[in-house]
Amino acid sequence: MKYFDNAATTPPYKEVIHTITEVMSAHYGNPSSLHRYGEDSARLLQKAREVCAEALGVHAGEIVFTSGATESNNIAVKGAALQWITRGKHLITTMTEHPSVFESFKQLERQGWEVTYLEVDAAGEVTEEQVAQAVRTDTVLVSVMHVNNETGCVQPVAEIGRMLKKKYPRVLFHVDGVQGFGKVPLYLKESGIDLYSLSAHKIRGPKGIGLLYVREDVSLFPLLTGGGQEGGLRPGTENIPYIVGMAKAVRMAKEAEKTVSERLKLLRATLMEGISRLPELKLNSVPEGAPHIVHFSYPGMKAEALLHMLEEEGFLVSTKSACSSRKAEPSRVLQAMGKLPDICLSGIRISLGDEHTESDIQDLIAALNKAVGRVRHLKGENLT
Ligand code: PMP
Repeated sequence: MKYFDNAATTPPYKEVIHTITEVMSAHYGNPSSLHRYGEDSARLLQKAREVCAEALGVHAGEIVFTSGATESNNIAVKGAALQWITRGKHLITTMTEHPSVFESFKQLERQGWEVTYLEVDAAGEVTEEQVAQAVRTDTVLVSVMHVNNETGCVQPVAEIGRMLKKKYPRVLFHVDGVQGFGKVPLYLKESGIDLYSLSAHKIRGPKGIGLLYVREDVSLFPLLTGGGQEGGLRPGTENIPYIVGMAKAVRMAKEAEKTVSERLKLLRATLMEGISRLPELKLNSVPEGAPHIVHFSYPGMKAEALLHMLEEEGFLVSTKSACSSRKAEPSRVLQAMGKLPDICLSGIRISLGDEHTESDIQDLIAALNKAVGRVRHLKGENLT
């Protein structure tokens, strides 16, 4: 089987698995304990924090370990809204955010906040001007994702962040960086970003662990209360094996960022070119998108049917995003891009990983060609 669903999750690096197993068996102390086992774990925790901070170009004290990006996004969005309630109750986001951001805003809206959901263009992009126009005197938070998980569309988050810092310095800016890290360079300190979410399992680390960067002079309302770990924002005994495993994956992904993204860019261009030559397939990703995601539709064909045909040929792909692929509704992201219902219901996402080669891409294009041929043949048979 060839795995082409890396935007859903990635195969962990062998080194990461090894590290996790070792830490789990040999360093099981609770980092809050005062004895040597506790100190040993506290040291590992601090080292992991420093490694993640270095990869993001931020300070170690600005890293909060969480159970994944869903939690990071919830802490950032709701924590900012609740903390700054006296400053105002207006929030800004986009129509194409991941559900962990989008539904956080929906929940706040139901609780009395006012939310502006920015429309995207046909490529899925918002502009810095749209954000600037939406800001009001009572705006407390703007949240825009770096790379869209369905289409790979890259948002101009650095431009948005710099504009906000210059014109509206009191407005907080959160970026969901899950699909961008290790693929599309972003410098947090130079981009006016106050809050940034990351997930380990999208970068060949373990599942169930992530982080939130919280700029040093930003305070958030803690959604959870407990023992005060992670600066009080994510209390609970720290998952040291996964935190150390994540730090390893973060470092490896950062070190490989340039070479991996250059290589994936070439593979993606070949794949997009191959898809655009297939009759009836419609590309939903734009050429300047992130280097690992290609999204297309086959109008008139149920996405699951094409997915299973590709699976029979040995290729694992995705319909929409993994988080919403079991729902029968059309993709909210494609709808926001103005795509017709037929396109929204027949979407397939192919997401590349650093293990792929040119010949994998050629084989995938051939399998797609075969699947499309089979469908056309079946359609023809039905007509006669
Ligand atoms: N944001 C984006 C853009 C994602 O792709 C995902 C994972 N589908 C998440 C957030 C949630 O990450 P996690 O699985 O770590 O909760």
